[in-house]
Amino acid sequence: MTLELRLASAVGADHVLTDPQVTASYDVDWTGRFRGRARAVVRPADTSEVAEIVRACAEAGVAICVQGGNTGLVGGSVPVDDAVLLSLSRLTALDPVDVVSAQVTAGAGVTLSALQQHVRKHDLDFGVDFAARDSCTVGGMAATNAGGERVLRYGTTRAQVLGVEAVLANGTVVSRLAGLPKDNTGYDVVSLLVGSEGTLGVITKLRLRLVPLHPGRAVALVAVDDTASAVSLVQRLRAALPSLEAAELFFADGLQLVRDKTGLPKPFSDAHPAYVLVECAQRTDPAEDLLSVLEEADEVRDATVASDVRGRHALWAYRESHTESINAVGVPVKLDVAVPLPALADCVRALPKTISAACETARPILFGHVNEGNLHVNVLDALDRAEQVEDAVLRLVSSYGGSISAEHGVGRAKRAWLELSRSPVEIAMMRSIKQSLDPQGLLNPGVLFS
Ligand SMILES: Cc1cc2nc3c(=O)[nH]c(=O)nc-3n(C[C@H](O)[C@H](O)[C@H](O)COP(=O)(O)OP(=O)(O)OC[C@H]3O[C@@H](n4cnc5c(N)ncnc54)[C@H](O)[C@@H]3O)c2cc1C
Repeated sequence: MTLELRLASAVGADHVLTDPQVTASYDVDWTGRFRGRARAVVRPADTSEVAEIVRACAEAGVAICVQGGNTGLVGGSVPVDDAVLLSLSRLTALDPVDVVSAQVTAGAGVTLSALQQHVRKHDLDFGVDFAARDSCTVGGMAATNAGGERVLRYGTTRAQVLGVEAVLANGTVVSRLAGLPKDNTGYDVVSLLVGSEGTLGVITKLRLRLVPLHPGRAVALVAVDDTASAVSLVQRLRAALPSLEAAELFFADGLQLVRDKTGLPKPFSDAHPAYVLVECAQRTDPAEDLLSVLEEADEVRDATVASDVRGRHALWAYRESHTESINAVGVPVKLDVAVPLPALADCVRALPKTISAACETARPILFGHVNEGNLHVNVLDALDRAEQVEDAVLRLVSSYGGSISAEHGVGRAKRAWLELSRSPVEIAMMRSIKQSLDPQGLLNPGVLFS
């Protein structure tokens, strides 16, 4: 039996797509920068169908590329030529919420917004949130250990994952979904699969930790002089407000671009060099507490606070529209780095010079999650010098003791620079884990390692 027939008998012919017009959107990533050509897109409905597909590919020696919502930003979700593209988008089962434990089991293809809607009916919430919520899947979030806007309060996706079910490269299923918060019985296989970017197994289900849903929310947009003031303001807010949930940083050029693309009004009558957007959440409205800390803060040049839903969304739009506004201008070089917080201001100061030395025409737009020293470095008008720009930025970040990937992962985009963030011993350990779990190298070849 050919591989295609075996795949069709596993999932039904309707779920094996080979027409290039139908498969085109699976072959290119969200940024438009990475593309491949899958021999077939296969859409299983459950773990046993995933296992059958992986077994069939392993026996035929054919590579598999795993795809969730295809919102990844490092080229990890697009196929290498002739691979089978395994789409998890039909694994959308959501178990009833376990209110007693504040946990839920979700299929890997459940989108973040579907998960939020499901659990919020029970006054519970998911600890990770970001702008791709309507498309990104919990499987993709776990595979990339996604971060987002609430890491300050709840940590990254890894901190929310209590259990995993996954299909290994030979088609066997590993299932650890009990969700015990305390369980010290050897190697942490759940944590190993989280952040492995589809190179060690295909995640099919997740047991997720939930957090209280806070009905009282307040958002402030604060104008400041520079990055150093932003860091010092966040330090002040963190100490004074246990309800602090998010602290985002962006700059005048990013705000202008967002306003040009979206038509949003000026947030303040005067322009300022930098802006911090903060959100607090608790049972009651935190606006008064937030305002009183801002009133005392030397760093604040201007501020506006909203606690109604419309006002909060209007303020978040200035920050959350950055990614899409940048992409509307052209395909950017996208880097997502982190530096130790005390070095953040120096790094922001050094970046434009470093980038223009690598490409004179380049136009950097920076924004990020300030509390984690996480900067999204987007560089427009530099694609013909993309590698030189990437190299210059990542080496600068490494010189501050930073990471070449704060939250998006390594994917194909950053694999050449892995040694800037990981020691030779760590890379050897990672390679030996990969070799032992996927000896044929069929799961996401080219992702993470060259
Ligand atoms: C507008 C926008 C804003 C964003 N903001 C943020 C942000 O603030 N923080 C952040 O961390 N990311 C952000 N991202 C990046 C992206 O949304 C995340 O990386 C997300 O976790 C990817 O999920 P996905 O389902 O789309 O995965 P995909 O893009 O489909 O895949 C990403 C990687 O995970 C692997 N993978 C996917 N599903 C599985 C699975 N079930 N099992 C094993 N491997 C799998 C893929 O092979 C690939 O390597 C943003 C993206 C966009 C477009």
